[in-house]
Amino acid sequence: MVSKYPSNIVKMVFVPELNKNIWGGYIPPKKDEIFSSWFLRLAQAHLLKSHSFSKLTLEGYSLWNRDNDIYPNDFLIKVIEINTPLSPVQINNLFLINYEGFLFERINKQGFTIGLIPLKMYHRKRTGKGIMYCPCCLKNNHYYKKQWRVFYSIACLECGVLLRDDCTECENPITYHRLEQGNKNEILNFPLNYCAYCHSDLCKNPIRASKTILQFQKKINTYLQNGFTENLVYSHQFFEMLYKVSALISREHDTWGRLRKACCIEFGNIPTIIDKPFYLSTLKERIDILLLSFKLLENLTLFENIVRKHNIRLSELTKDKTIPFYYLNRFKLAK
Ligand SMILES: [Zn+2]
Ligand SMILES: [Zn+2]
Repeated sequence: MVSKYPSNIVKMVFVPELNKNIWGGYIPPKKDEIFSSWFLRLAQAHLLKSHSFSKLTLEGYSLWNRDNDIYPNDFLIKVIEINTPLSPVQINNLFLINYEGFLFERINKQGFTIGLIPLKMYHRKRTGKGIMYCPCCLKNNHYYKKQWRVFYSIACLECGVLLRDDCTECENPITYHRLEQGNKNEILNFPLNYCAYCHSDLCKNPIRASKTILQFQKKINTYLQNGFTENLVYSHQFFEMLYKVSALISREHDTWGRLRKACCIEFGNIPTIIDKPFYLSTLKERIDILLLSFKLLENLTLFENIVRKHNIRLSELTKDKTIPFYYLNRFKLAK
């Protein structure tokens, strides 16, 4: 049984339509808002810092020393369900696990899930550039979206601009929860569109996305929404393949680097990711690689021709793990 906290600390209000009491400062999540952003705003609406609000409402549920946006536990869902108008489905929708079956087949609760950008956390600090943002969306509405944690998000279709994954002034990662630190009397020194390190406005000088990038993003978003591609491949299989090809062409390798070499001959130089796995690449590092892999997967005939022309072994694609059947079959036939 989940206990309710004393109403004299966080005031409750009775909502006749719901026939229950809810948190007095309740505010609904915004469109595609991610849990940590909503929870921070919710705490502010109660004139509390998130840590204090969590202490009072969630029995001190640990908020910022782990990646809280991946999936909720049952306790969290229950408390939010009891104290807000949100249904369990709406609550689940605040978390990245909601992409299950679309962006990836199953979420990995123990570690890294391909398709989500890791935060690379060290206590409350984040060393990875795992949170992206659209400078225009953030300027108009001070909150963070779930799609900004997706590895394949590179532009905002609504605003037509490139996303960013750091502060353009000091190049530190986005860590909006740290905006709460260092001031006992005020909840936030700066709104959510400010850098927690240098306090500069994150929304300055947005850069227009190219037509190619917007076309890429449109397809990615459509696949993610529909759950399948134009070839009726499950979207999570398409994303698995997109990651596989991107990771493969992102590094030079004597044995497993033939596809990269072939692509360099066919399309020109490809950026190299050195000293880290591809999933830890920054947005800037991965854009061109993703675009090229996407081009190959969108035109499998072109891909097959390159495989044939440069005599690329299927084992280069399947050496760690087999690839989805649809692609495996196409490449087998192409040999
Ligand atoms: Zn935008
Ligand atoms: Zn900064």
